[in-house]
Amino acid sequence: MPLRIGLGHDTHRTGAGGPLILGGISIDCDFHLVGHSDADVLLHAITDALLSGAGLPDIGELFPDNAAENRGRDSGDMLRLAWAKVRENGWDLVNLDCVILAQRPKLSPHKAQIRQRIADLLQISPDQIGLKGKTGESVGEIGRGETLQSIVVALLERP
Ligand code: MG
Repeated sequence: MPLRIGLGHDTHRTGAGGPLILGGISIDCDFHLVGHSDADVLLHAITDALLSGAGLPDIGELFPDNAAENRGRDSGDMLRLAWAKVRENGWDLVNLDCVILAQRPKLSPHKAQIRQRIADLLQISPDQIGLKGKTGESVGEIGRGETLQSIVVALLERP
């Protein structure tokens, strides 16, 4: 059975005032992520991991950040459309492994809800999704809270 891995990475800078949209959910927080869409750094990295594994154009090519229709766009909507393209190319998902790099907020209270949201968007089981939060140990741009980043690996199979 053919297998492929895809790697996705994304960065967004923080701006004053919440809420924080992360992993498809809204989190009470005193900052938000700045971007053309809703700036959901985790969903963007997942989208790119899936597209990349299937050898398809990346999120920036599918949803250009200078296009009016993508302004403030729900990243869950972009993920669903990208996943449909990956599926049309014959790929199923074995699992996703996700890292969120964020000094704040503490992610553990939100992990179950984020995993469920991603599972709903992709029509998979939450146990196919690994999710870890890592701080920046108070150093660098992540540690100073200037950015949130995400790294995602997707394993695809073609049954
Ligand atoms: Mg992005």
